[in-house]
Amino acid sequence: MRKHNFSAGPGALPLSVLEEAAANLVDHHGSGLSLMEMSHRTPGFESILFEARETIARLYGLPDSHEVLFLQGGASLQFAMVPYNLGQGAYINTGVWSQKAIEEARRIGPATEVWSAKAGGFRDCPSPETTFDVAEGTKYLHLTTNNTIYGTQWRHVPEASVPLVADLSSDFLSEPVALDKFDLVYAGAQKNAGPSGVTVVIGKRDVLRSFTGAESVPTILRYKTQAENDSMYNTPNTFGIYLVGLVAKWVRDNGGLVGARERAVAKSAALYRVIDNHPEVYRGHAAPASRSRMNVTWNLVDDSRQKALLAEADRRGIIGLKGHRLVGGLRASIYNAVPETSVQALIDLLNDFAAGKV
Ligand code: PMP
Repeated sequence: MRKHNFSAGPGALPLSVLEEAAANLVDHHGSGLSLMEMSHRTPGFESILFEARETIARLYGLPDSHEVLFLQGGASLQFAMVPYNLGQGAYINTGVWSQKAIEEARRIGPATEVWSAKAGGFRDCPSPETTFDVAEGTKYLHLTTNNTIYGTQWRHVPEASVPLVADLSSDFLSEPVALDKFDLVYAGAQKNAGPSGVTVVIGKRDVLRSFTGAESVPTILRYKTQAENDSMYNTPNTFGIYLVGLVAKWVRDNGGLVGARERAVAKSAALYRVIDNHPEVYRGHAAPASRSRMNVTWNLVDDSRQKALLAEADRRGIIGLKGHRLVGGLRASIYNAVPETSVQALIDLLNDFAAGKV
């Protein structure tokens, strides 16, 4: 039996994608080779990469001004590549990952924090009325669209006097986003888009292709290098890119990003309803207006019972519910590939627990 997988990442992948990859693992579509044994400098692999790129571009309706790269090093490497390539940034701090992005930028040069949710315990994202005062010389405003650890999510694209850059790691491919409003976005694939080891970067072609950073910035850390080499300056994660392509097609064939959003809205609303229905047992973390549709976070009013709940979850094949080690509590990550049946299994567990049946 497959587990009900609520892991924050690497997270659940669509079963049909895993089955297709498995069927072609040893002999890739009759080529006599596993894809993992195939040179990236072959038309066979290049067409896989180009198709994955194209599928993602179409899902978002990307204009010609933007292009898609497949890099490595996770979102964490983007925390450094963004300031190396774009210069001084202003950062909106909505949680642990935003903070790490700021810290990394400050190793490279000046970076300012223009808004923080810290005082409120990271329960909010900025409202649409919030404006950001960026300092002279700022080249971009950075935000984290979904805060994986605290379970908060932006509901709008902010207006800014400088170009926008965003970390989309944990809500990539989960809803339509006007990516043409951003100079650059990035996402580790391991939540909604594939396995770990691939980072999707989508940016304005002229921003990616015109390097204006310091001469000391290594070749491989320049977007220009990868853009001019079709993401194959060095050996890419060939198998990972193949899987990202399969997942993107799966999203396309299941109603595209609008379909993904509908399912995310339904699954998250059902979970928040159970939490809200039992205030004597559960306490949601995020402020309702900022609740994430990807990572639902909550605590038990009686923390001492958490072990019992997790043990029962384990018995029922429900895994990945433990909150991030930095914040504790509980978290259910309900990425695209987490089926409604898994969410229902979790809802049954939470109802049984609240009724004292566990
Ligand atoms: N940003 C966000 C929003 C994340 O959720 C994560 C991973 N959980 C990261 C960045 C770091 O990603 P990676 O491990 O791919 O470097």
